[in-house]
Amino acid sequence: MIGVTDREDTMTNTIRTKVGIIGGGPSGLLLSQLLDLKGIDNVVLEKHTRDYVLSRIRAGVLEHGFAELMREAQCGDRMDAEGEIHEGFEINDHGTMHRVDLAGHTGGNSVVVYGQTELTRDLYDVREKMGGKVIHEALDVAIHGANTDSPALTYRQGDETFRVECDFIIGADGFHGVSRKSIPRDVLNEFEKIYPFGWLGVLSRTKPVNPELIYSKTDRGFALCSLRSQTLSRYYIQVPLTESVEDWSDDDFWAELRARLPDDVAARLETGPSIEKSIAPLRSFVAEPMRWGNLFLAGDAAHIVPPTGARGLNSAASDIYYLYHGMVDHYLNGDGAGLEAYSAKALARVWKAQRFSWWMTTMLHHFPDQSDYDRKLQEIELAYLLSSEAAMTSLAENYVGLPF
Ligand SMILES: Cc1cc2nc3c(=O)[nH]c(=O)nc-3n(C[C@H](O)[C@H](O)[C@H](O)COP(=O)(O)OP(=O)(O)OC[C@H]3O[C@@H](n4cnc5c(N)ncnc54)[C@H](O)[C@@H]3O)c2cc1C
Repeated sequence: MIGVTDREDTMTNTIRTKVGIIGGGPSGLLLSQLLDLKGIDNVVLEKHTRDYVLSRIRAGVLEHGFAELMREAQCGDRMDAEGEIHEGFEINDHGTMHRVDLAGHTGGNSVVVYGQTELTRDLYDVREKMGGKVIHEALDVAIHGANTDSPALTYRQGDETFRVECDFIIGADGFHGVSRKSIPRDVLNEFEKIYPFGWLGVLSRTKPVNPELIYSKTDRGFALCSLRSQTLSRYYIQVPLTESVEDWSDDDFWAELRARLPDDVAARLETGPSIEKSIAPLRSFVAEPMRWGNLFLAGDAAHIVPPTGARGLNSAASDIYYLYHGMVDHYLNGDGAGLEAYSAKALARVWKAQRFSWWMTTMLHHFPDQSDYDRKLQEIELAYLLSSEAAMTSLAENYVGLPF
């Protein structure tokens, strides 16, 4: 038996709360923390252990608006101390480097480089400190009555089954979660684009090759030099979907990465053993609407982008911003307009992030079956960007994050 709520029926394992959140990733935890600070009771159900969630190596570039939200959640201290402010990044066009001046093109805006793992750890720590209700190893989570006035969740822990009765359910359980699949097929529209390649990523305890990120376009394919800190580097190379991690020794990876960088950059690349190596397929996906009755989808549960342009986690954060304000208006001001508008508002921004990620991906990758005409257009797209202040401004305003 667990003691986690304002009202609890100990005979039937029934928990009563206001907001039942499925998923203890960044979306679910951030919303939980923000709501708790406003006195809005909530419970987070996470399928995995905390250690498992924290072992996933994912995003690392935060929009300034996301960073603000972390501070509002009283969770920004370590991010501000250890994260790096980046006011620009580099694009390597076949051996020639061009700097994108984010600050200069956006009136001083920037991004924060801080790993998703660290951010999630900070959210777990603050939830624990505040006595937050985050239930790990909640198995077989099921949604009941999402389209009624009495929605509920059930889950299993060991041999016991629990029921969470709530006003609203938040599906923040990622792309493979249960929430989106609980919405009837005739309600949900899904839009998807699969790219004909993936990213092979390596994390290594080495000094980053460059103080700022490098997006590299070459005839051998795309590469990205990213970082988590001054001692932790994250590198990616574009690979065919047919490849697997076992096909790539560390030495092969470093050799291929070097071949996709300008000579002077390749010469200063510090290499070392990979501490994580994985291949992520590139996919664009949106499910709409993001609300069905009293079930709200947020983050990867509703949309996925290819990582080019660093929009994935940031799009999740904008959903949470809209949900948080909608919930606060509902509970504290008796105004339901924010929640009513949630799906439309969130999707408007989500589709802009989709466009930006698709554009960056299309411009910078090598497409195996591309026609000569399409290749010419791709080349001129990049040439135009690198020669136009207006195009650079558009890139910069999207990269630092459009307003919520
Ligand atoms: C391999 C990979 C690499 C990525 N790299 C980048 C990047 O470089 N840049 C970028 O911007 N974005 C990147 N992303 C995207 C970014 O990590 C996601 O957008 C972000 O994690 C979304 O957060 P979320 O909380 O919505 O979903 P998630 O982080 O997926 O969290 C969902 C949580 O729900 C839990 N869950 C799932 N099903 C259930 C269930 N049935 N019951 C209970 N709990 C459940 C999961 O265990 C998980 O903890 C990457 C994603 C992946 C998969």
